[in-house]
Amino acid sequence: MKTSYDLKDLLNRIDHKGYPAYKDTRGSYQFKGYLLSIDHVQGDPFAAPSKVSIHIPADTAGFPSDLFQEKHKRIALQDLLTRKFSREVESFHFKAKGSGKSGLMSVSRCGQEILERTACQIQKNGTLIMRMEIGFPANGRTINSRELIKILFHFLPDCVQTSLLYSSLDKNEIQKNAALAQDQYYIRTELPKLGLAAFVANGSILPRESGVSDRPMKGAVPFQSPESMEISLPLPNYGVIKGMGIKEGITLIVGGGYHGKSTLLKALELGVYNHISGDGREYVITDSSALKIRAEDGRSIKQTDISMFINNLPNKKDTVHFCTEDASGSTSQAANVIEAMEAGTELILIDEDTSATNFMIRDELMQRVVHRDSEPITPFIDRVQELFNCFGISTILVAGSSGSYFHRADCIIQMDHYLPKDITAYAKQEAESFPLPSDLVESCPDPSFKRTVKTDHNFCKNDRIKLKTQGRDSILINKEIIDLRYVEQLSDIEQLSTLGYLVKYAQLHIFDGKKTLSESVEELYRMLETKGLDSICEGSYIPSGLAMVRKQEIFACFNRYRSLRM
Ligand code: ADP
Ligand code: MG
Repeated sequence: MKTSYDLKDLLNRIDHKGYPAYKDTRGSYQFKGYLLSIDHVQGDPFAAPSKVSIHIPADTAGFPSDLFQEKHKRIALQDLLTRKFSREVESFHFKAKGSGKSGLMSVSRCGQEILERTACQIQKNGTLIMRMEIGFPANGRTINSRELIKILFHFLPDCVQTSLLYSSLDKNEIQKNAALAQDQYYIRTELPKLGLAAFVANGSILPRESGVSDRPMKGAVPFQSPESMEISLPLPNYGVIKGMGIKEGITLIVGGGYHGKSTLLKALELGVYNHISGDGREYVITDSSALKIRAEDGRSIKQTDISMFINNLPNKKDTVHFCTEDASGSTSQAANVIEAMEAGTELILIDEDTSATNFMIRDELMQRVVHRDSEPITPFIDRVQELFNCFGISTILVAGSSGSYFHRADCIIQMDHYLPKDITAYAKQEAESFPLPSDLVESCPDPSFKRTVKTDHNFCKNDRIKLKTQGRDSILINKEIIDLRYVEQLSDIEQLSTLGYLVKYAQLHIFDGKKTLSESVEELYRMLETKGLDSICEGSYIPSGLAMVRKQEIFACFNRYRSLRM
């Protein structure tokens, strides 16, 4: 085993040499208390920074095993450590002199959601691995290893000492973090037992600071459940918590403009993830399979059976195997619903702000004037009950401008000055004087999900597939852009990186012309769940910047991948 002294010797020897001499540093070195592994060395100072990982044995890291044996607690601890380590590294404000990315040190930046990441992993035996990137310093293309020595021998050991060892951390904070994770897990597993689609605790802070900040809004009106919907849950650590339980079925959120409807829905969308302490949404927990559905004009659709919603198009286009490179508002939203069913969603979330009106409703006057036979669209309102009764899929819908859904909803919540009121009885009574037109809509056959994915030979020949994420919006793979802007529950750039790796992995190993899309995604997802995020990285090292995604987002990504051949 090489030691830190060997590394220092080597670095001293290559100082002032040409940049490629850095390549020799690849390998593992025993430092005091941990192993430093240089996993990948950048080719030049302007390239993506080098990958470095720190491996701390269990007895040095020292975390009691009850903090990481259960998955939800392990993820919460990994998340906390990533945040602490990242803060510590940033606090150095170290700027190495030099060219390109010289001296740039970066660790995953975590947002408000708690996600499993490759940045930090605690193994079954308690070994802690922290991954980061470091721009190896140079002047021009000449190695400046003295600066790297500062980083690896002065800064990093300090960061490890203060932020990654149980002995130097605040035990109380770590305990609280684990307790929150356990409480969140409890609510999540209780929801289906109680027949609930979501839970929003009293006192939650739902609105965010601004359009560009996910932090809680200061001075916001805290959430308070209407009495009729209030339930109590005995959390293992917090004790009894009260809040609004949204039952499975059809829930409508109405209210005047600006009264907080979309804010509540947004919180429910992100309730598929756990949130960090202090976020305000710690106890807003939604069915983990929930999917936000919206209109998405311009997206591509492949072999999707949207006949449940759209039939008899004037150009006789097949809507059982519907394909388009440029969907309209209504066809895109129809495809989004069908794909949600394919992805195993049990809760659909819709905001009228981002829906196609003709997909959502057809008012009575329009039905009289334009007969059903000349309208290809069966609006969502005519299927929403069928979705629940036949497929077990609940819907939570924001609709401030049309009362039609009053007839279909099981529960109607009015947001009034940011506070929910249960107006179900009143709204139902009022709705009686405005009956819906009575012409019956035929129930539809189950949509077919038999779409097989062909192998793509561009991938088989090519082992140097270019993969890049473009912010939170899209993935670039093999010169093609996969647009994920409207996949609204992707909350972190690192999730897009994971999707990129998954696309590549599936192209190389999963798609075979026999498996359906859903079998392929199931296989990928099972692999992620059992073998972890590392299982999809086939390079010589595990990148530091991958975060876990849900099955629903994997489907969403493949569904927007234009050159996927089905
Ligand atoms: P709607 O969808 O009903 O039109 P929004 O949910 O978009 O309304 O909310 C309108 C504004 O009110 C937003 O700027 C939001 O941040 C703010 N807001 C929402 N909920 C609260 C709250 N509980 N306290 C204070 N402000 C809030
Ligand atoms: Mg709104």
